[in-house]
Amino acid sequence: MSDHSLDQLKEAVYAANMQLVRAGLVVLTWGNASGVDRGRGIVAIKPSGVAYDALRPKDIVLVSLETGEPLPGERLRPSSDTPTHVCLYQRFSGIGGIAHTHSRYATSWAQACREIPCYGTTHADTFHGVVPLCRPLTPEEINEGYEWNTGVAIVEHFAANDLDPLHVPGTLLPFHAPFAWGATPAQAVEHAIIVEEVAGLAWRTEQLNPQAVTTPQSIVDKHFLRKHGKDAYYGQPKT
Ligand SMILES: [Zn+2]
Repeated sequence: MSDHSLDQLKEAVYAANMQLVRAGLVVLTWGNASGVDRGRGIVAIKPSGVAYDALRPKDIVLVSLETGEPLPGERLRPSSDTPTHVCLYQRFSGIGGIAHTHSRYATSWAQACREIPCYGTTHADTFHGVVPLCRPLTPEEINEGYEWNTGVAIVEHFAANDLDPLHVPGTLLPFHAPFAWGATPAQAVEHAIIVEEVAGLAWRTEQLNPQAVTTPQSIVDKHFLRKHGKDAYYGQPKT
């Protein structure tokens, strides 16, 4: 498995993992990023427990999109969160990268078991509504398959609330931390940075005004839809 496209995928996933560190979202080894090659049915993800200082592109582990198992010949064990990533890739067909961190503000909201309200346009530019909070897992789900069932809980929450994962590119896990995703590993990292930024802004907003109101839907729609969707007009036209 050393052909060019898989090497490129490993490079992209390596770069995404290192960008999580540079962005200040990861302490110790508390984070991981992945990418998928849907044509070949392969997910590339950070190895488990490897320090970022020591991480090299060749250490990125390739696993099957169908089974989550490492491909034959892989030397390192994939991230322990691999089943969550694989579940999300299987069920959210439009995503190409995932980033999981324990970034401070977003994790604080997750530990407080609160979704992040949309208090302004910084948030609405990327999230068409709240940054959601999934339900906690049952003891049976935790014992039976904690990481896989974490993915299932995310997918269920999005289905039950009619959320489009491309319009809401991340979520909080109660008592845990955020997951973010995007079209590519790099965009997943960008969305993880945005989740952390809006989490910090929302926290400060509530400190300054405990009665702060959430952004009117018309402003949320305006800001999200001018950047996303068929009538988007933010930025330069795509050529
Ligand atoms: Zn975690």
